[in-house]
Amino acid sequence: MHFVEVILPLSLEKTFTYSISEAEFQYIQKGMRIAVPFGKSKVYTALVVEVHQNQPILYEAKEIQEILDEKPVVNEFQINHWFWVASYYMCAIGDVYRTAMPSAFLLESETLITQKQEIFINESQLTDEEFMIYEALQKQSSLKIQDIVAILNKKKVFPVIQKLITKNVLVLQEEMQENYKPKLVRYIRLNAHYNSNEGLSELLEQLKNAKKQREAVLAYFQISAVEKKPISVKKLTESTNSGSTVVKSLVEKGIFEEYHIQEDRINFSGKINEAGMVLSEVQQKAFSEINTQFLSKDVCLLHGVTSSGKTEIYIQLIEQYIKEQKQVLYLLPEIALTTQLTERLQAYFGNKVAVFHSKYNNNERVEVWNNVLNNSDKAQIVIGARSALFLPFSNLGLIIVDEEHEQTFKQQDPAPRYHARDAAIVLAHSHNAKVLLGSATPSLETFFNAESGKYGLVTVTERYGNVMMPTIDLVDLKDKYFRKRMTGHFSDTLIESITEALSLGEQVILFQNRRGYSPVIECITCGHVPHCPQCDVSLTYHKHKNQLRCHYCGYSMANPTNCHQCNSVELTTKGFGTEQIQLELIELFPNAKIGRMDQDTTRGKFGFEKIIDSFKNREIDILVGTQMLAKGLDFDNVSLVGIMNADNMLYHPDFRAFERSYQMMTQVSGRAGRSEKQGKVIIQTYNPEHTIIRQVTNNDYEGMYREQLHERMIYKYPPYFRLVKLTLKHRDFNKLKDGAMWLSEVLRQNMNVPILGPEEPPISRIRNEYIRTMMVKIPKENSILGTKKTIQKILNSFETVAQYRSIKVIVNVDFY
Ligand code: ADP
Ligand code: ZN
Ligand code: ZN
Repeated sequence: MHFVEVILPLSLEKTFTYSISEAEFQYIQKGMRIAVPFGKSKVYTALVVEVHQNQPILYEAKEIQEILDEKPVVNEFQINHWFWVASYYMCAIGDVYRTAMPSAFLLESETLITQKQEIFINESQLTDEEFMIYEALQKQSSLKIQDIVAILNKKKVFPVIQKLITKNVLVLQEEMQENYKPKLVRYIRLNAHYNSNEGLSELLEQLKNAKKQREAVLAYFQISAVEKKPISVKKLTESTNSGSTVVKSLVEKGIFEEYHIQEDRINFSGKINEAGMVLSEVQQKAFSEINTQFLSKDVCLLHGVTSSGKTEIYIQLIEQYIKEQKQVLYLLPEIALTTQLTERLQAYFGNKVAVFHSKYNNNERVEVWNNVLNNSDKAQIVIGARSALFLPFSNLGLIIVDEEHEQTFKQQDPAPRYHARDAAIVLAHSHNAKVLLGSATPSLETFFNAESGKYGLVTVTERYGNVMMPTIDLVDLKDKYFRKRMTGHFSDTLIESITEALSLGEQVILFQNRRGYSPVIECITCGHVPHCPQCDVSLTYHKHKNQLRCHYCGYSMANPTNCHQCNSVELTTKGFGTEQIQLELIELFPNAKIGRMDQDTTRGKFGFEKIIDSFKNREIDILVGTQMLAKGLDFDNVSLVGIMNADNMLYHPDFRAFERSYQMMTQVSGRAGRSEKQGKVIIQTYNPEHTIIRQVTNNDYEGMYREQLHERMIYKYPPYFRLVKLTLKHRDFNKLKDGAMWLSEVLRQNMNVPILGPEEPPISRIRNEYIRTMMVKIPKENSILGTKKTIQKILNSFETVAQYRSIKVIVNVDFY
């Protein structure tokens, strides 16, 4: 008797045993995929993790349907790592498998297939079966697996489909097929030769007989006298009413020069490439120190202030590892940042750089997967967000985790709720690889590990090119309101500084942390605030659509004209979000172009990239945004950063609120003054004396660190305690309440560690499900393995209590 042990792409804890023939036993290897029947009639793509001869005791092993691979597509490193993720983060191995693989690898009976658009298909290259599927898709936009089973009149169809995906004929329907190319804005400038008065008269003389071209040149001078900004071709043609052919001839004559702001960055790096990379003395020193640390430590923290040139240090380090033929993984907190970084890395490493992007289509993801699997040159350096961690690396030398403090590295929902930085350290260990963590504002956990000697520590306190750190001015809102120096949410100080920056052609970033501060409608008469009928939150007012919307479930209603409680018509908006700031800006600066970056404006595909691009292209003068602005973006023309209100971050009910406020304010401030000129930051606050604000102003990371660390020790939080958060959900309020009580009592009886709760979270109902949370705090010195085993046992017995079985329990290990 012969068997395979497989993982199914379902939320199941266990592996399953299927029976195979002796021939299959000889053929099948660990890491290959096979199609297996599961449940009544479904077929799934399972992953082989073992071939063996032990008959299962509890059930009769079914036969597999077919083998899908000729050689393994998943390697041993991955399988081990995935099991570690499942066990450490207390989730099903099936959840890890499903997250790790591109969905094109996971065909199942429910999958919908469509034809790839805008692709020429050479029909003669298709086999008969392939052609039959292709032909069917000419009549029907999508096909189910069952349809294909019928068309081909056979059960085993996954391999044909897989082939067609590889041949780029088919795609899975669920996925997006759009690709994003940054838009290049064309700018012109006058050839330096004509920049003097004599030059100008010479030029006008020269264009005596070309009326249109003469007009265009004069218009150029007029615009450039008023605006200190680069002049786009579009702007020039609009103001002269002349077509772009006029501009084109002027370019051909060498009078105008054409350039693109985005492209300039690439050219700039290209120059370095020829000469070899030149690190500054400070960077060079940091680079050698990292190497020294790596002699004795596997993980090193690079703590470098914003704009200290960490990326260049990474590049130098990457170079060293790829020379040794090692693979390098570069993790970013946010996929939207990859475009910027990819350009920078490709300038040095050419086509050795691959990007693993959840917004890429499946074929591209499969391609990157295969390149990594084959240890191909084309994917020696992989850039990606957290899921790139699951690629089939076999020869990793280095993992860089940039902006390691970012909370987006922790997956919140769904399982696996893993922290990519921590999982990266474990992965690197199995490859004998090194990990470099980079940040200007390291997480407390990481700095603690660096300080205690577990990690190496390298510090850079200067910005690259001796650019000065920005000055930080505090504006006392209490005083400003008292002295009537406020216009809406803007102090006179902030308005003056914005005016000045705009007059110099410089750009401005305004930061408005929206969390807990969205505008709501309030009745002046009775104080009633409209709430979501399904969630325990107030509805947010959206002026643009004149709607009230729930940010948790998407419920919306028209903005009421009178109070639903007392019928009064005196309603007012309270609180302010990015949208309101934007509206006030339009009133204050009618001539400025204003952009907004928040969850609403970046929701669409590539929404984030589009806004970043137009800001870089200088189509936007003032960018208003939420915390998305704080994520390591590099703009070179921003001279002013305004923080609209520092207080609402500080008073967020979360043990990390102070650490995060420090990080956010420091990171946003770091966007100011990245070129020659010293930047300026204005923080508006009711609490200019607050220690965190003081520490941000003095750039005193260590002061913040010590103080917060002390608090964490006293109140039993990381890095001294590990947190396991349990979230319970049910539609029946009383059942949930009882179940939560039961669970917390049993936990307390069986575990000698602090347990908080059960408590009602600030938002205690979402989509009609009530919520209770509990926090188990495990002292660092306790065995995490043993403790989690106990928790699991208790959760298992919770499930056996009939009346609580329907309560959903979500486990979040290392809650962030
Ligand atoms: P950080 O990531 O530390 O905030 P960056 O790596 O973005 O800083 O560097 C800040 C700026 O300095 C970038 O515009 C970068 O191109 C430039 N820079 C850094 N190091 C060098 C170098 N060695 N040569 C030329 N330019 C550099
Ligand atoms: Zn009312
Ligand atoms: Zn809702």
